[in-house]
Amino acid sequence: ATAEISYTLKNPASEAAHKAASEFMPGGNTRSVLYNRPFPLCMGNGKGNRLWDVDGHEYLDFIGEMTAGLYGHSNEIIRDALFSAFDQHGVNLGAHNLQEAKLASLLCSRFPSIEHLRFCNSGTEANLYALSVARKVTGKRKVVAFNGGYHGGVLGFAHGVSENTVDPGYWILGTYNDREHLESLFETHDDIAAVIVEAMQGAGGCLPGEISFLRSVQSLAAKHGALFVLDEVMTSRLYPSGLQGKYDLQPDLTTLGKYIGGGLAIGAFGGRTELLQTYDPRQSSALPHSGTFNNNTLTMAAGYAGLSQVYTPQANLELNALGDSLRIKLQAIAKGTKMVITGVGAVMTIHFLRHGMPPLRTEDLDKHSVPELKRLFWFWCIERGYWIAERGMISLLLGTTMQDIDLLVKAVDGFVIQY
Ligand code: PLP
Repeated sequence: ATAEISYTLKNPASEAAHKAASEFMPGGNTRSVLYNRPFPLCMGNGKGNRLWDVDGHEYLDFIGEMTAGLYGHSNEIIRDALFSAFDQHGVNLGAHNLQEAKLASLLCSRFPSIEHLRFCNSGTEANLYALSVARKVTGKRKVVAFNGGYHGGVLGFAHGVSENTVDPGYWILGTYNDREHLESLFETHDDIAAVIVEAMQGAGGCLPGEISFLRSVQSLAAKHGALFVLDEVMTSRLYPSGLQGKYDLQPDLTTLGKYIGGGLAIGAFGGRTELLQTYDPRQSSALPHSGTFNNNTLTMAAGYAGLSQVYTPQANLELNALGDSLRIKLQAIAKGTKMVITGVGAVMTIHFLRHGMPPLRTEDLDKHSVPELKRLFWFWCIERGYWIAERGMISLLLGTTMQDIDLLVKAVDGFVIQY
């Protein structure tokens, strides 16, 4: 377990690319999550569920752009939708267009708690707008989020509220999967507009929310006059009607993002009609909601094609069943070791924990993680051509086969035997 991290990346072209990029971008890239030491690998191109770095190494893609890359690289149906939107309509018409209503209607039909929705360009934005609805409707100001939660670049709670968190004075942090703690927060604060929660803490390590806990978030919020905001930016792909459907939750507001734009930048927030009236310009007290690219035809058409033709409810169930079988195989080889796998369906994280016990919340990870093993594992995987996130996260892309899964399992087994 104390093995030296002796890997040196054999990627001179990536190293040179990073050096050149560092001339213009701090850290040489533009997404902190993709910065890896000693330097981030630079990918050249992808096709299906395969990637090639600029040094020419091939990888099986098990990151799938942290769940947004569900459709795989250069999916033909998405490609056709994009080209035909570009050729037939143009990208930005500076006006309402037919494509946005089609995608909105499809999403409302998939997620029963969403009667009305609006689009934006990222999951972060979706959450910011959803919380504005909650503040406007309740007249209250504070928001409960959970330690380890992630709702966007300026809405991250990995280690509490940071200097990067918006409205730093208005957050109250709860303990994930702890109903009593949430109850005590409601008893000590009377200005809570919303509770925002992920049905599975994704970036925080794919820690599933216990169904009883999530239901108690719903009931406690209702009891205390706060809105229940379910962030399904990552989890809505885990069941045809999202984890809210799987767990029978009725959030007041839901936020979506990632794959719903067919792989292009998108966010959406929705819920009951009367709540979404907050952004209905026909209302005299409506809040403004704008965004130059909110309804660009490329994203709308790609999202609609993807959801209607590719990620059908049947395809959703199949991909998540494949994910379940990967997790079961990994759990079998992890038995009695420090390796622990958590997740739901096709999205999971491989952890290395001193006691080898499943974590319930981020505090368990903080206390028991073995970071050297995690890092060594990441090098082990990428050196063998398996592209996973350094944090141990895996999210399956469409096109991944049982054979691909078995190859990854074999590579992980090799690691477990050695370390
Ligand atoms: N909410 C959750 C649960 C997420 O996982 C993410 C992104 O990882 C976001 C919100 C933010 O989405 P975006 O990166 O599109 O702003």
